[in-house]
Amino acid sequence: MNTSTLAEPSPEVKQFLNAPKKLLIGGKRVDAASGETFEVTDPSNLSVLCHVPKGGAEDINRAVQAARRAFEEGPWRRMSVSDRGKLIWKFADLIEQRSEEFAQLETLDNGKPLAIARAADVPLTVDHFRYYAGLTTKIHGETLDISVPYAPGAEFLDYTRREPMGVVGQIIPWNFPLLMAAWKLGVALAAGNCVVLKPAEQTPLSALRLADLFEEAGFPQGVVNVVTGFGDAGAALAAHPDVDKVAFTGSTEVGHEIVKASAGNLKRVSLELGGKSPAVVFPDADMDLTADGVAGAIFFNHGQCCAAGSRLMVHRNVYDELVERVAEKAKQIKVGPGMAEDTQMGPLVSTEQQNRVLGYIDSGLQEGARALSGGERFTSGPLGAGCYVQPTVFTGIKSEMKIVSEEIFGPVLVAAPFDDIDELVARANDSIYGLAASVWTQDINKAHKVAARLKAGTVWVNCHNIFDANAPFGGYKQSGYGREMSLHALENYTQVKNVIVQLH
Ligand code: NAP
Ligand code: MG
Repeated sequence: MNTSTLAEPSPEVKQFLNAPKKLLIGGKRVDAASGETFEVTDPSNLSVLCHVPKGGAEDINRAVQAARRAFEEGPWRRMSVSDRGKLIWKFADLIEQRSEEFAQLETLDNGKPLAIARAADVPLTVDHFRYYAGLTTKIHGETLDISVPYAPGAEFLDYTRREPMGVVGQIIPWNFPLLMAAWKLGVALAAGNCVVLKPAEQTPLSALRLADLFEEAGFPQGVVNVVTGFGDAGAALAAHPDVDKVAFTGSTEVGHEIVKASAGNLKRVSLELGGKSPAVVFPDADMDLTADGVAGAIFFNHGQCCAAGSRLMVHRNVYDELVERVAEKAKQIKVGPGMAEDTQMGPLVSTEQQNRVLGYIDSGLQEGARALSGGERFTSGPLGAGCYVQPTVFTGIKSEMKIVSEEIFGPVLVAAPFDDIDELVARANDSIYGLAASVWTQDINKAHKVAARLKAGTVWVNCHNIFDANAPFGGYKQSGYGREMSLHALENYTQVKNVIVQLH
């Protein structure tokens, strides 16, 4: 438990928290049409940080109209790709200049340790925008030789153009609020789209701060619109008949809703959903590296990672030793408020999420799993007042337990031994999810053979949760479709036009 002194929010953060919060629609800062607001809370102590507009269907409609105008009539489409890249680069610079402010906002809003927000969330965000700033000048079509058998002797020039989708709706979750905004916005803007962004109700602050910087960077009005609100605002965006494409990151359950809502105008959809990712350990693995690595795989960001290594599968020969070491590491993690400089794990994002995760822990215990670490509530002391959950390692699990098959999205690991590779691969793939996996071994043959057999969009070898703007990320099975980051993400945000010219 960590109760050391809390960092004081910077004057810039205090100023932002005290200033009135507005939606960004068509370049104007406006209240929600209903005039309503909602509370934003700090999950470390449930204090109210500020109030933000409760945008709804009417605000979404206004934002979509503004994005449509910006796309069809504004200067954005006429801007050179080089100038578009410079704008995105400048935007990255503005975020970087305010790194500390963004890190503190993420920590206060989401609960994550300040050290993590500083080291990961903010620099990854800046790097991500720069990657896509550089890409604006590299998006290209192709020239094709065509034969056209029914027009013998005719000559053709065939080329393709990669054109933006148009108006894009982006709905993002609360686990990495700033970074998820970057993953969605960077590529959409690089490809020349106009955007309506809906942050998660739990964590709207960094998106609202980004909204200030769009203006400062000089993006034309309406190119990016930000509407804070609840699920009904997201649903209105997914269903809107004038949205060409919707991108969503969040639960698989809501992913299903998005697909249904998109049917009205057959808008394009990309989904990055949940996971129950296996971390697979062979007896020849480097045990020091692996113990650290698989503990980090689940406990990084308090397990609130779509790719969290939440199922640990260890060869029986090293099972007891490794699981014991991971449980020991779990006990050593400094849990406390994110604003304490040496906190390693903060609170979960909300009371709702805390209760959800504690419910899973209770169900695991009731169904007979054994908690080697964690498993209890913080009922008193400073941590009793926030959304904290102890890092928990379960053994003695059975495949029919809820904790084994369902995504918990908290610091809860289920561990089980395996005996042979075929059994291991079958069990690792026995999930509705297929987002990620990690393989821990020093045998390169085993590593690559198992990597090929795992049904997952990302397989890490001797590492986990490694992300980079140039590395595609996305799911197999019900973990979603479409890839984020890298050149692959352009597929989600462009459409191919074929131009066929007969040369006479
Ligand atoms: P969620 O409901 O899927 O929320 C994600 C985003 O979708 C939020 O912006 C949310 O708005 C919005 N939304 C909710 N209902 C919607 C609808 N019908 N149509 C369109 N948008 C809608 O996730 P959650 O309830 O916050 O978390 C529940 C579980 O989802 C977690 O425990 C975890 O298992 C999973 N999750 C996964 C990820 C991931 O990275 N893959 C991230 C977060 C959560 P509101 O914020 O107002 O609900
Ligand atoms: Mg929700």
